[in-house]
Order: sequence, then structure tokens, then C-alpha cells
Amino acid sequence: MSSTKPEHIIIVGAGIFGLSTAIHLARRGYTNITVFDKQPYEKTLYSYLDGCDAASADINKIIRSAYGSQTIYQELTSDALRSWHEWNQEIARGADLPPGFSPSDRVFFNCGNLSCGDYSSLPTFERATVECMEAAGFKRTQLITNEPADLNAAEEKGFFPAMNPFSKKTLGVLDTTGGIAVADKACLYALHKAKSLGVRFILDPFNGAFASFIYDLNSQVIGIRTADNKKHLAGMTIMACGGWTPSLLPELDDLCEATAGSVVLLKIPQSSQLRQRFSPSRFPSYTFKVRDGAEGGLYGFPVDERGLLKIGYRGTKYTNPKVQKDGKERSVPITRWTTGNEGTLTQIPQQAHRVIRKFMDEYLPELGQEGINIWKSRVCWYTDSFDNHFVIDRVPGQKGLMCATGGSGHAFKFLPNIGKWVVDVMENIGMDSPCIQAWRWRKPASGEEPTNTLMEGSNGARSLGKTCLVTAEAARSKI
Ligand SMILES: Cc1cc2nc3c(=O)[nH]c(=O)nc-3n(C[C@H](O)[C@H](O)[C@H](O)COP(=O)(O)OP(=O)(O)OC[C@H]3O[C@@H](n4cnc5c(N)ncnc54)[C@H](O)[C@@H]3O)c2cc1C
Repeated sequence: MSSTKPEHIIIVGAGIFGLSTAIHLARRGYTNITVFDKQPYEKTLYSYLDGCDAASADINKIIRSAYGSQTIYQELTSDALRSWHEWNQEIARGADLPPGFSPSDRVFFNCGNLSCGDYSSLPTFERATVECMEAAGFKRTQLITNEPADLNAAEEKGFFPAMNPFSKKTLGVLDTTGGIAVADKACLYALHKAKSLGVRFILDPFNGAFASFIYDLNSQVIGIRTADNKKHLAGMTIMACGGWTPSLLPELDDLCEATAGSVVLLKIPQSSQLRQRFSPSRFPSYTFKVRDGAEGGLYGFPVDERGLLKIGYRGTKYTNPKVQKDGKERSVPITRWTTGNEGTLTQIPQQAHRVIRKFMDEYLPELGQEGINIWKSRVCWYTDSFDNHFVIDRVPGQKGLMCATGGSGHAFKFLPNIGKWVVDVMENIGMDSPCIQAWRWRKPASGEEPTNTLMEGSNGARSLGKTCLVTAEAARSKI
């Protein structure tokens, strides 16, 4: 640990960006850190089923090194994976566990991540992954599902069932370094780590909710006011509010937007053989035609210890544009847990439901054969940047205000290490590094084709107001 740094640092948001930043600030010698969140995570334990609606509050998330030719994220994953393995080992030793944890808990399962589709030849992204991982020295970690030598390697490594886990053959690449993070447990473990390092947490819908910034006479941010009207002064305020960040920081216009993915959970009875069939020892996390537009964009997971099997759809990501105080529309997250809307958004878009059901019927027909229904559905809010890179930078014109967001559907895996980079930016360290450059404050260059089109507003085709929603829960009709 480096020398003591007593200045007060405020982090708003205890999702993965906030938690990781808190841990790395404390490790870097900061002794006066407060994390605020409107979610009472010590009570709700990051559980969606108990009222948590952040992207990080989930049962599981994919971990993959497979990033095509985007080697900055490949390297970042390889660094994160070391910590995921270490965290599992620490938990197994049982020395300093959060309440409710036991040494048999795991925050990472190395069950592999299969990126596949109904392809006749391997897509460019998957080819690039194989080449880039080989070039980085990770030999034979990326296994092509129809290559005899790779099938042999899968057999040797214990990944053979994960190469072709569906009832219909697919073509793709199994990333044997990857698997799943047990998201809620991983966040709780990170929260515990941060607390053990001396970080203060105010996790409360009132005392922990950010209400506004406090400015000095030069219009510089010098802290925040919370919903209980208390003032909290700080040398640096870091906004890490996930999908809520773009409406709290309008400076993010055209850079980030909150968009909704659709998720369903199926509950497999304890007595069913399918618990074994979909267990992480045999079944990988997967993406299916994930870059192939509205009829693709699927991903899924092995069954968890409660018997929950999760399938998600991101082929179309939806928006909830609402007019803000400045008269401009911005997409704001709405969920079944949103204050004032409790219980309202229990549906998912019809398109998402149709694509998920078609996939289940074709590739996982055993679920239907056993009469296993969709048990719960959820919309889960991404913070998309236009180019899928994160945003970790000072807010322009502000010395004491930073933003760490823009997870764009792939940041969870970096829970152990993303905070190091936030602290680097805060301390102006390594500002030329390709990561920090990719995550700087930016606008699309003129003529640049964005990966994600942002801010189409309430007239846009993806606006939830224009979208047909259906009740997916316990509906098992063929579409
Ligand atoms: C559907 C979906 C699937 C994904 N799948 C994967 C995956 O498989 N693998 C992967 O690596 N990544 C995945 N991601 C991305 C990953 O989950 C996110 O990038 C990451 O969790 C975002 O973390 P965050 O800290 O930015 O935001 P969040 O987790 O949303 O946390 C933001 C926090 O800010 C708090 N907050 C908001 N407003 C206020 C306020 N006014 N006052 C106080 N607190 C406030 C919220 O309560 C919340 O706790 C997925 C994302 C989504 C949406």
C-alpha cells in the first residue's frame, strides 16, 4: 500500500464500477472514501428478486477472454481472471468471509463460454479471437466446435460436453478460460473487501440517494447532496450509477444512453435430471448469434444452485426516453422495482420473448418436454456508449468530478480490476495507455458509424412506449 491520502473521495453507485473503484482507491492509500447507493444492498444482497435492479445485481454474468481482435479487453480479462481465481481460493480458505458466505461458495465458475450460431463457416469475430489468443500465448484455449483436434483438446481438458451443449449442432468457439461470475455473490464479496479496507458505505434509499451536486463559486463540483438533504463535501466525486448515469450527468449526451436488455429465468425442479444436464460441470455460458441483429442476440448460462436457468436477449435494446428538467429527452431505467412504478414493468418486449422462445424450442426442447415455464422476466439496463468502450474520465471542465460508466454489456467481468484504471485516471497515471485512451470523454468522429445508435428519443423504434410488451412469466405457448 502506498502513502496515506486523506482527501475525501465520494463514489456514487455500488455496482461493479463503484465497488471496484472503492477497493482500488483504498489499496492505493486513500483513507477517506464513502460510497453512496440508493439500494440497501446489505439487506437485499444484490438480489433482483429482492428489489435490486442494477445491472450488477444479477444471478450470473458471462466471463470471456474472447474479444475478437479487441486485445485491450482480452488483456484486461486475463488480468481479471487471475483475481477471479484468487477470490475463489480466498473464499475456499474461509479466512475472512462476508456474512452468509461459506467456504464452499464460488464467485467464478470456469465452465467455458461458447460463442456460436447456426453458421456454416466460422464468423470473422471468432476467427480473430482464436488468432489473438494464440498470438498472446494462450495456446489451445479457444476451441472450434467442429475441429477434430479441438474436440480432442476439449476431451482432455474436461470441456467436451460444453462444445456441443444443445440438442441441435452449432458452430462456434468455446473459450475455455471463461465461464460465469456469480454476480450477486461477487458484488457482496467485493463490498466486504472494500469495507475491510476501511471504505464507508451509505446504502439507503434516502440517505444514500444522490440528489444533486454541490458547486463552489467557480461552478466546480465540490461534493453531493443526498435525498435526506445532507451535504457531503469531497475532493473528488465519481459518478458510477450505471444506467442512471446519463440522466444524472447530461454531459454524457451522445456518448452514453440507458438501454434495456430482456432476461428470462426458468426454474428447474430439484428432482429433474435437467439440473445435472445444465450444471456448470457440463454446460457452458453461451452466446448465440450475438452479433447478428434482432433475430439473434441471445445468451445464456448453466443452472445455478437454486435451479435457475437464465436466458437473455440483446438483439434489440430498448429505451425509455423521458423529458428531463432541461427539456431534453433522455432514456431512464424503469423496472418492476422503480420507485413510484413498483410492480408495473413485469413484462418484456414481444420481440425478445419471441426470439427467446424460438431458441428454447429449437435448441433446448427438453425444457418444454418437461413443462418447464418461464418463471420470471426482467428488463435489465445497460449503459451503452456509442462505440461499446467504457467512459472513465473527468467530466469536461470539472476538476473534482469523474465518471466511471458505459459498461455496454460487458463490464461485469472486470469487477476485480476496472477500479485500478479509474484510480489511474484520477491520479493522471499512464494516460497514454490504449485503455485509458479508449475510455476518454469523446464524441463520435464525423462520419464514424456508431456501434450503438444513441438518443433516438420517444419517436425512435426502440422506445418502450412504442414497443409491444408481453407477459412472459409462466407463459408457455408456442409462438
Ligand atoms: C442485461 C445485461 C447483461 C449483461 N451481461 C454481462 C455479461 O454477461 N458479462 C459482463 O461482463 N457484463 C455484462 N453486462 C454488463 C455489466 O452488467 C455492466 O457493465 C455492469 O454491471 C455495470 O455496472 P455499473 O456499476 O456501471 O452499474 P450498475 O450495476 O447499474 O450500478 C449502478 C448503481 O448506481 C446506483 N444508483 C443509481 N442512481 C443512483 C442515485 N441517484 N443515488 C445513489 N445511487 C444510485 C444504483 O442503485 C446501482 O447500484 C450486462 C449488462 C446487462 C444490462
